[in-house]
Amino acid sequence: MSQKKYVSKFQMMGTVISITLFEPNQPLVEASYDYLQRMDQVFSMNRSDSELMAINQQAGIRPVQVSATAFSLIQDALHYSKRHRDSFNVLIGPLVKLWRIGFGGDQVPSSAEIQRRLRLMDYSQVVLDAPTQTVYLKQVGMQLDLGAIAKGYFADQLIQQFQQAGVTSAIVNLGGNVKLLGPNPLTTDGRWEVGVQAPQAIRGIPVLQVQMPARTVVTSGIFERYFKVGTQMYHHILDPQTGFPVQNQVDQVTIITEQSELAEVLATVCYFKGPQAGAALIEQYPKTEAVFIDHQQQIFVTSGLQPRHEGVYSID
Ligand code: ADP
Ligand code: MG
Repeated sequence: MSQKKYVSKFQMMGTVISITLFEPNQPLVEASYDYLQRMDQVFSMNRSDSELMAINQQAGIRPVQVSATAFSLIQDALHYSKRHRDSFNVLIGPLVKLWRIGFGGDQVPSSAEIQRRLRLMDYSQVVLDAPTQTVYLKQVGMQLDLGAIAKGYFADQLIQQFQQAGVTSAIVNLGGNVKLLGPNPLTTDGRWEVGVQAPQAIRGIPVLQVQMPARTVVTSGIFERYFKVGTQMYHHILDPQTGFPVQNQVDQVTIITEQSELAEVLATVCYFKGPQAGAALIEQYPKTEAVFIDHQQQIFVTSGLQPRHEGVYSID
């Protein structure tokens, strides 16, 4: 097979974005870049001119009219926050800002301050008004944070744009979030092989490989952003019940499914649940699998991941 691939990389959203096409298409690469740049303007927590910041800054003051994109993603995130109330919470912003994990934070906040922030995470205090496309956070200090879902939405949108442009095969990698399109032109059976990197292993040597049709593969783990005090590790997945980083035996969770936005949510939720309860949740979703890696580097996979040979699994 003499098929070539065309890989484009750029730095954005605090990560390396990579787009792989199997026919040259520079305009599409440029359009992808522009799209992600626009999304960064809409959703960034670190830019004062983003729509998300406007909503947060007007908390307790007034509703803010937003773009259709922002409205629908916020609506989805709120829906998932209600469904997974013990774990996923889109109002985590005040806690994220308090801990500053990955943004220079290196101290455990006071429990009084944590308690104060937890009171700002009540989703009954969010008003979404579809006719006016407005979002209103009713209490001063409330803050939406789409960090655990936005990249999945962007990956879904990019792949959809590729399809509309007539592209039949592609890989979008938004740093920890991979989405595949169509058959793999480099294999005879059209299947893809995606490696899962263990967080505590050497970079570039995946601990396992999964052969699959076009799916999305999303990983959430605690080694992306953290700080340590003594031996205690404080990482960026925060528990909306306690206000502290989740404490359990899980290093990372990888979700394999069709929709990347859902994969992001399930990765966070399954991180909280761990392998047993997490797998039980995953079984309820069609065409969805998960890989859990714990602190001892033990691997646990859901039932649809069939072992092929050492370190290689396959899904239908
Ligand atoms: P990344 O892909 O950047 O590693 P994740 O998908 O694992 O991030 O999500 C972590 C980010 O999600 C945090 O940086 C924070 O912004 C936000 N977050 C942290 N805890 C929660 C939570 N319990 N619910 C929803 N969002 C969260
Ligand atoms: Mg995630």
